[in-house]
Formats: sequence, structure tokens, C-alpha cells
Amino acid sequence: MILFEKVTKKYPNDTVAVRDVTLAIEPSEFVSIVGHSGAGKTTLTKMLLAEERPTSGRVFFGSVDIHRLKKDEIHHFRRKIGTIFQDFRLLPQKTVYENVAFAMEVSGKSDEEIMADVPHVLDLVNLADKAFNFPHELSGGEKQRVAIARAIVNQPDIIIADEPTGNLDPVSTYEIVQILRKINELGTTIILATHNKGVVDSIGRRVLTMEDGVVVRDDPSGKYSM
Ligand code: ADP
Repeated sequence: MILFEKVTKKYPNDTVAVRDVTLAIEPSEFVSIVGHSGAGKTTLTKMLLAEERPTSGRVFFGSVDIHRLKKDEIHHFRRKIGTIFQDFRLLPQKTVYENVAFAMEVSGKSDEEIMADVPHVLDLVNLADKAFNFPHELSGGEKQRVAIARAIVNQPDIIIADEPTGNLDPVSTYEIVQILRKINELGTTIILATHNKGVVDSIGRRVLTMEDGVVVRDDPSGKYSM
């Protein structure tokens, strides 16, 4: 379980991005975090990734207080989380296959594991036929599917997707949502930060609404209501 306990984040410029947030996320939940730009969605996810430290309060993953981990422990902890961003963040000089394989290499996987698992995840995101293409040869939706393959290949417990469909057309958006749902059905917790009302409504799962750093609504079978 993920637990934010009375978490406040104030940046050095005195912006309070997250205010006294307490919330729990159970394993295998699919949680959408919605809210206007600047509401604090990204800051919340960064604290879960230990990229930002709460000014006060605590963030737990299971019984582990994330912000008490030492540097090498943080490195290890982050492997439990796969990330997906609006701008894809693929390595342009590497093929689709190599982008996914690289994520396994850096986490110390063997060549045998890489050769077994990369084709499997490319299949899961319907990209087996693009394995040897480069990112510049792909559509936005295809690039995002590579990013998803890379995020899941090390079998994380959690996927954080921050505005993953922000650059995509409606058809690609639908495909990405379907893939995220499939990954969730296979047991991975999904935390999706988005502006996209259609996406949230089509998922029909828990929705947290943030306004000015505060979680103002926590709706178990969500509709986007702003
Ligand atoms: P969202 O993801 O909902 O758009 P953010 O978490 O990115 O919201 O931002 C919340 C608030 O914190 C905004 O007012 C933003 O300008 C501010 N903020 C975000 N990152 C920083 C930073 N590194 N330094 C100072 N202020 C920041």
C-alpha cells in the first residue's frame, strides 16, 4: 500500500504545491489524479518517486518511509515504479527493441532475460512489428507504447503515468488507455495524472481531484467533475 500521511510540499520559492494530503492507494488500484495545471499532481507523484522531499508529513510504500531511505536504497526502491511521461523520453539513437532492452540492462538483467522479455512486452503493447524501427519513425501513439513497454519490462509494482496522452490524438489516446487498463488487470497499480476528462470517465475507476495542492474530492468510481 502507498500512504501519504499529512504531506505538505513547499518549494524553496515558497510555493505550496501540496497541502496536508493524506491518502492511501491499495495494490492493483487504478487511480486518476485530475486537476488544473499547477494543482500539485506532478509534485505528488515526484514525492512518491523520492524525487522531491515533503516539507512535512511522510510517504510510505508498504512499511517503508520513502524519505528515510539512503541513496542506494532509493535507487533500488525506484525499480518498483515504472514511469511514463507526456514527452515519451525515448533514446533517439536506439531502436524500439533497444530502448526497452536498455531499461533491463541498467537494472542488471541478463542477456537471456532481455531476449525473453523484450519481445513479450512489445507484443503486449502491439509493437512487435516495429521492434527495429527508431523513435523518429514512429507515430506519437507508437512512441508512447514503447515508453509503456519500457516502463513495465522490469515488472514494477506501480506505474506512474503523468499526462501520458497529452500529445496524442483521440485514437492513440484510446489505445494507450486500453493498454494501461490491461496492465492494471495484470495486477500493477496505476497512478494516472491527467487533464483529459474523456480518459478519466472512460476508465471509470477512482478519481482524486486536486485544487491548489489539496485533494478536494476522492471519488471511488470516478467521473471527472470540474
Ligand atoms: P500539476 O502537475 O498539477 O500541474 P505541479 O505539481 O507541477 O502541478 O505544480 C504545483 C505548483 O508547484 C505550481 O504552482 C508550480 O508552479 C509549483 N512548482 C512545481 N515545481 C516547482 C519547482 N521545482 N519549484 C518551484 N515551484 C514549483
